[in-house]
Order: sequence, then structure tokens, then C-alpha cells
Amino acid sequence: FLKGKSALVTGSTSGIGLAYAKALAAEGADIVLNGFGEESELARLCDELAATSGGRAIFAPGDLTKREGTEAMMATALAEFGAVDILIANAGMQHVAPVEAFPVDKWDAIIALNLTSAFDACRLAIPGMKAKGWGRIIFTASAHSLTASPFKAAYVAAKHGLAGLAKTLALELATDGVTANCISPGYVWTPLVENQIPDTMKARGMTREQVINDVMLVRQPTKQFVQPDDVAALALFLCRHEARNITGANYNMDGGWVAE
Ligand code: NAD
Repeated sequence: FLKGKSALVTGSTSGIGLAYAKALAAEGADIVLNGFGEESELARLCDELAATSGGRAIFAPGDLTKREGTEAMMATALAEFGAVDILIANAGMQHVAPVEAFPVDKWDAIIALNLTSAFDACRLAIPGMKAKGWGRIIFTASAHSLTASPFKAAYVAAKHGLAGLAKTLALELATDGVTANCISPGYVWTPLVENQIPDTMKARGMTREQVINDVMLVRQPTKQFVQPDDVAALALFLCRHEARNITGANYNMDGGWVAE
């Protein structure tokens, strides 16, 4: 149902972003990938996505901690497709430290990547969406856009900021055929999460099961990780015609985390 539409997903060379790209391609969308990775792997991913969609898939480089990086990525996408019909601002990073010891460069980088790059990508994509009278903006926020945890000041502030940005866009674009929403996962099973297990086992003297249940899933009542494909399925639904009146929403997918 997305044949002829172009979709840009930031931070889509792994994890949740890659799952969005694969799901959108499976519905026929042309894909713009962004993120870091080996050149040969990026080329392989683009080939795979184009084969899936029967359309085009390109890589648009850009370090999104820098405004110029976001602008360069958008310029590549707009030059190739004329407009970005579906924008998923997904790239993000985390740093954990008490607020009075929070490294200021980490604060700046997290706000830049998790929040400012989403603003800049929207700013540059919206004119094309308005011209076509159709668009979908989706932010990967987090359970931390709805609730907080200690020692994650920059991440929590940035993710709450995304929720506010989506609401503002929803109002500004309400009559333009463009929706703006957040998806807010709890712990998602990505390589990043999996790779933290051995270190945490060592640091805390715990078994794999203890790390999963007592550390990672302690606030996730279902005691299950969300899967990247689950998140992508919700994003696909938000792209459907039937979702045209869902705007300014923030859907949590967190095994019950924020229900507490
Ligand atoms: P990931 O580390 O697997 O993927 C991150 C992607 O962003 C990669 O493609 C990476 O290359 C790219 N990236 C990193 N820094 C970048 C930069 N400066 N410029 C451009 N691209 C950059 O992470 P993930 O777990 O898939 O997370 C994706 C999003 O989901 C993030 O915004 C994260 O905050 C959010 N999220 C993740 C979880 C989780 O449990 N994994 C939970 C809630 C929210």
C-alpha cells in the first residue's frame, strides 16, 4: 500500500530503524537509509530493500549530532525522490550519569541527535509533504517520553521533547493531510541490548536470567522484550489511510511499563 511513496528512516542501519525500513519496503515504499555502518554492508542492505520493494533504496549519510549532517541527509533524499513522504526520526543514543556529574558534551550530543535532528528533518521534509497533501511523521520516542528514570537526564528530556514536538506538528499540519505521532517502546530486543548482558552479568555477579528479569525487565510487567518488528508493525499502521485521524498521539509499547 506504499508503492510510489518514499520513506526516510534515521538511524536505520540496525535495530528498530532497520526493522522500520524492512517493513516499509515490504509494502513497496522507496527507502532512504541513514546511520553508521560498513560501506559493503550498507550497499547490501540497499540491494536487499530494493529487491523487497521492487523500487529504489538509497543510503543518505549524515552524522545527525550535527545540523549539517541532518541537512546533508535531507538534501540527498530530496534530490533522489523530490519529497520525503514518510519521515521516521529514530536515531538516538543514551548516557547514564547523575545530573550534577552529567558530561556537558554528552548532554549536547543527546539533545542534538535525539531531538534537534528530528526538528531539522521535519523542517526540511514538511514543505514537500504539504505540496502533496499527504505525509506521515513518526518519532521513535520511548517509555522515557512518558515517565523518567534517575541518571538519564538528557535522554528523558529529549524524549519528552519529541512528544511535545509531535503534538505541535499535529496541530500545525492538521489540515494538510500530514500526521505526526510518537511510538514509545519499553526495552526492545536489539543487538545493543543483547550485547549489554555479558558486561552486566560480570559487573553485578548475576546470571543471564537475573540480568534480563531483575535489571532489564524490572519495569516491564509482561517480562518480555518488545521486538523491533512489533514496533515496525505499529509504524506501518500509522502510515495507513485508516490512521489519517491519528495525530499528536504517543503510543506506548512497553509491556505495561507506564501503566504502573
Ligand atoms: P541501535 O543502536 O540498534 O541503532 C541506532 C541507529 O542509529 C544505528 O543505525 C546507528 O548507526 C544510528 N546512529 C547512531 N548515532 C548516529 C548519528 N550520530 N547520526 C546518525 N545515525 C546515528 O538502537 P535502537 O535500539 O534500534 O534504537 C533506535 C531508537 O529507539 C533510539 O531513538 C532509541 O532511543 C529508541 N529506543 C530504543 C529502545 C531499546 O530498548 N532498544 C527502547 C526505547 C526507545
